[in-house]
Amino acid sequence: MTDNLRIWLSNPLAIYTGNDEDASGGIVVSGKAIVELVAKGETPVNIDQTIDVSDQVLIPGLINTHHHFYQTLTRALPAALNKELFPWLQTLYPVWANLDPEIHRAATKLALAELLLSGCTTASDHHYLFPANLTDAIDHQIEIGREMGVRMAMTRGSMSLGQDQGGLPPNTVVQTEDEILQDSERLVSRYHDREPYSMSQIALAPCSPFSVTTELMRDTASLAKQLNVRLHTHLAETIDEENFCERSFGMRTVDYLESVGWLSSNTWLAHGIHFNDEEIARLGKAGVGVCHCPSSNMMLASGIAKVKELEAAGSPVGLGVDGSASNDCSNMIQEVRQAMYIQRLRYGSSAVTHFDAYRWGTKGSAQVLGRDDIGELAVGKAADLALFKLDEPRFSGAHDPLAALLLCGAHRAEAVMVNGEWRVKAGELVGQDIERIMHEHKEAANTLAARAIS
Ligand code: ZN
Repeated sequence: MTDNLRIWLSNPLAIYTGNDEDASGGIVVSGKAIVELVAKGETPVNIDQTIDVSDQVLIPGLINTHHHFYQTLTRALPAALNKELFPWLQTLYPVWANLDPEIHRAATKLALAELLLSGCTTASDHHYLFPANLTDAIDHQIEIGREMGVRMAMTRGSMSLGQDQGGLPPNTVVQTEDEILQDSERLVSRYHDREPYSMSQIALAPCSPFSVTTELMRDTASLAKQLNVRLHTHLAETIDEENFCERSFGMRTVDYLESVGWLSSNTWLAHGIHFNDEEIARLGKAGVGVCHCPSSNMMLASGIAKVKELEAAGSPVGLGVDGSASNDCSNMIQEVRQAMYIQRLRYGSSAVTHFDAYRWGTKGSAQVLGRDDIGELAVGKAADLALFKLDEPRFSGAHDPLAALLLCGAHRAEAVMVNGEWRVKAGELVGQDIERIMHEHKEAANTLAARAIS
């Protein structure tokens, strides 16, 4: 615990603050917050501890705005390889239906460990599988997040439209609307902390148009309004989904979103790829946020989100690693790099800089989550930060350190602080045994795969 010690992270090799302030001399943190930015050549006063970071790049802690922790268990699963979204989901739903508490805990722990080690300080998860023995899945996630010290933005996912009703998921993994809404309310009252520097928040998150009923979308929007929490879902990820919406509801995805009361600045969408210009204008005007998931979109060949148009229209844009079965990793700094490259394919390399990519992974992601206390290195913001050393062969000879972090492919942070506490030091998790986490996770993944075969 740093208490109220004033700690100066001095003279970083390079710094990205997310604003125009000069912090070349580093930053001072105290308690949970950043209390001072130090200009070039300056020395702050009343410092209790100075940490020389002159061989490290300093950035705000990365913020992941869309994930499915449990999918770390089905990475590179042979049966699901080389498929597009719908057949990929139909292959995996029956495997995921066998989740149990122990397996789910192992997945959550591994996902959070991997995120932390890649410089991520705030993690969102979209959990929507609640078999009878796993109705407290999100309680587990919050508990493990607290233990590991990650800022948690959990979303209470849901599926209510089984195959019998024309949906995509098997009937065994869907819940009734009453069960979903009651549990959503329970989770918000138990875990949704609205205070500055909050470490746990809950949003409501029906899975997608093809896995929940229209009534559930509408009722969830009403409940979110009543409880004053945010809304999240997958939208416009694939052309298959667009066709499903036109066939089932007689409208395109954004019209559907509006029809169920979701076209609001309280909403953020995962993917948001297949929008036309008129739809982008409407989303931007309403302030709907979009979580761009570049690796997943490449892996499933879903398409390339129009993030520049969305931002210009007024939509906050953040990043997400998405579920680790469609990535197949949970590495946040690599995701920032992927975002830069996939967007260059759309807009050209001079139109997408490493600063754009950093913005999406930090301040943009914070806006997507509706938070103004994280995502930037500025006075009063939470002390959430990541430091990277450029001491691997991949960086050798690199000139601009901030560009090199993305261009040369950084993948592991040297140190990570969340809310003023060190959670990664010297490239290792603080107080966690990564070998044990990996061992338990591998066992869990094997158990789940074996259950699917038997
Ligand atoms: Zn997803």
